Amino acid sequence: MKKNILAIHAHPDDVEILAAGTLAQLAGAGHNVTIVTMTPGDCGSSDHPSDEIAHIRRQEAARSAARIGARYSCAEFGDLSIFSDDASRRRVVEILRQASPDLVLTASPVDYLCDHEATSQLVRDACFGAPTPNYATGANPAAPPLRAIPHLYFMDPIGGVDRDSCPVLPDFFVDVASEMEIKTAMLAEHASQRAWLLRHHGMDDYLETMRAWTHLNGGRAGVEFAEGFRRYRGHPYPQSPLLEELLGGTVIPRLYRP
Ligand SMILES: [Zn+2]
Repeated sequence: MKKNILAIHAHPDDVEILAAGTLAQLAGAGHNVTIVTMTPGDCGSSDHPSDEIAHIRRQEAARSAARIGARYSCAEFGDLSIFSDDASRRRVVEILRQASPDLVLTASPVDYLCDHEATSQLVRDACFGAPTPNYATGANPAAPPLRAIPHLYFMDPIGGVDRDSCPVLPDFFVDVASEMEIKTAMLAEHASQRAWLLRHHGMDDYLETMRAWTHLNGGRAGVEFAEGFRRYRGHPYPQSPLLEELLGGTVIPRLYRP
């Protein structure tokens, strides 16, 4: 039974860094994968005005998604302008209803950046609202309500740590060693970010940093490369391990605290 998978994070490249290997596995198994970014990354440049860099980054994100046959769309919030308010929640609910996901992967509730944390909260609450028939999004035409709350999983925070650099440990890891080539190719589509991160973050190798983080997770899991996920446990979200079941033998439970 093929499933609809929605990966939704704040900016172009977050999904690639944190979950592209897992999404490549799911797409390879025939599931329908949609990648949504909340913003087009309109502040991610010191060389282009916001409309220009947004245009560039939408195209980069679309090319990345296409590498695994995924659809891409942008929710068109602005960088540093994602807030959990009424209008934003309705917009995210409409996105969920259009994607009709069985399973949602989103940002960690705790992360280094306000946009990531706001995305996590908005998506969590939109999963609750999306099946509610009387919750109107105001879209015209509006997609129908979901049949049920989708399964909700959180990706790791960037770097696997909270704001105090304390590890945020996943429930389980996914062995993505076989997907590192496609994961790297997807991230490499975000060419505009290599120059930006060098200037703004002092990060001199975008791709190597992603590989190092994925390798660090692999070390925690006993494999070469891994991505980590947590299942949201709030009532009344579904608690059956759908993602683990879809992935099968590449799932490694976290049995110890490194
Ligand atoms: Zn981000």
